[in-house]
Amino acid sequence: MSIDLYLKNAQVVTETEVFHGGVTVEGEKIAGVVRGDQEIQAVQVIDLQGCVLLPGVVDAHVHFNEPGRENWEGYRTGTMAAAAGGVTSVLEMPLNSTPPTINRELLAYKRQVVASQAVVDYGNWGGLVDNNLADLDAMHEDGVIGYKAFASASGVDFERLNDDLIYAGLDKMRQLGNVVGLHAENEWVCSYLSKQLKDAGRTDRAAWYESRPPFAELETIQRASYWAKVTGGNLHVVHISVADGIRHLAQLRQAGVHVTAETCPHYLFFDHQDFERIGPAAKCAPPIRSREDVEALWACVLEGLVDTIGSDHSPCSWDEKEKGMDNIWKAWGGISGVQLTLPVLLSEGVNKRGLSLSELARMLSYNPARLFGLYPQKGKIQPGADADLAVVDLGQEWTLSADQLFFKNKFSAYVGSTFKGQVQRTLVRGKTVYHSGQILAEPGYGKLLLRSYPYQY
Ligand SMILES: [Zn+2]
Repeated sequence: MSIDLYLKNAQVVTETEVFHGGVTVEGEKIAGVVRGDQEIQAVQVIDLQGCVLLPGVVDAHVHFNEPGRENWEGYRTGTMAAAAGGVTSVLEMPLNSTPPTINRELLAYKRQVVASQAVVDYGNWGGLVDNNLADLDAMHEDGVIGYKAFASASGVDFERLNDDLIYAGLDKMRQLGNVVGLHAENEWVCSYLSKQLKDAGRTDRAAWYESRPPFAELETIQRASYWAKVTGGNLHVVHISVADGIRHLAQLRQAGVHVTAETCPHYLFFDHQDFERIGPAAKCAPPIRSREDVEALWACVLEGLVDTIGSDHSPCSWDEKEKGMDNIWKAWGGISGVQLTLPVLLSEGVNKRGLSLSELARMLSYNPARLFGLYPQKGKIQPGADADLAVVDLGQEWTLSADQLFFKNKFSAYVGSTFKGQVQRTLVRGKTVYHSGQILAEPGYGKLLLRSYPYQY
């Protein structure tokens, strides 16, 4: 066999070590991991000049709105932005597209619509909603990587769950060997506080985060994880913004309960002051927290208590944000960020707070690949794995402008932010799909990913 590609002179990162060396690629796979400087014959040799070579990011939390709301994003632009951010696999959510992906037929429909669109690999979340317990088996057979569920109202045509179905859904996960990804905020407390604030005439930006306080999130994390403990079901709490929630889940996991925690870059980057300055583009749920909460969340990341970091890329058209400029309640909630996960974590984590590159690879690649049944095809730089790689320059300082975004709607809460650490090149299955500002793959290059084994973590 001849070597197609030799990436040399890099800092190679796995979840356990960082070493000077390189990677050889044959076809779509990693053929070998090279330590030190070796002369190797290959069709193409790329000298990475000391840059960091990470396993491609597995972003387990994106909303691409296709089919049905392609004016908000779509798989084509969404995966282009992913590629530009060093993301080589995306796991896409079942809501915010119409119709939502809540049964076998709608899953097949989505896959048919998006098959020719993606430039990176992609898998699908199914939905667990109020009336589809009978549909979970068929979606599992068809390879969904998990089931998204909401404990509070989702804001779109996707029914939230009460405890009966959180309980029953988790029990079903134990039987299937799959996982529920839960949006955990207390519906009743958030509704009550929202009404109080609205009745008082509040339309300012602070009213948004006052209506969804940290304790409303923590309560639902505690309640749902109790049902995970009782049922033995598998629970992944998504987009956690409060440190106490992360610590609660970490304690249960230590005790053998099947619970894991995701946080998002925006909870590690923005605080209340930023939110009040930026406004609608930074509106999301749970909301952006105080600086004290942000630093407490960082402490969890640095202690290794966070399992995965996903972007929760949740775009919309600008008019959906603009209408909330003077009344925050009216803006669509969601932050466009799939392109910025690595820059945020390289800058704020590795460069500013001493986060190790191995810990970064663990949260961004290794853990999500294992949790969603994609490992060892994805998630680690090792022989036999797909050659999914991100080349980053750790020292490069840059400021994000809107024209650098590959999103369909070129705005983001992050525009104007300065980062230290930049993605230079992204490879998916051995092919460079992004390099120095250019997308180099055709739509349709990205392949469908299926959960290939039951939950184990
Ligand atoms: Zn989401």
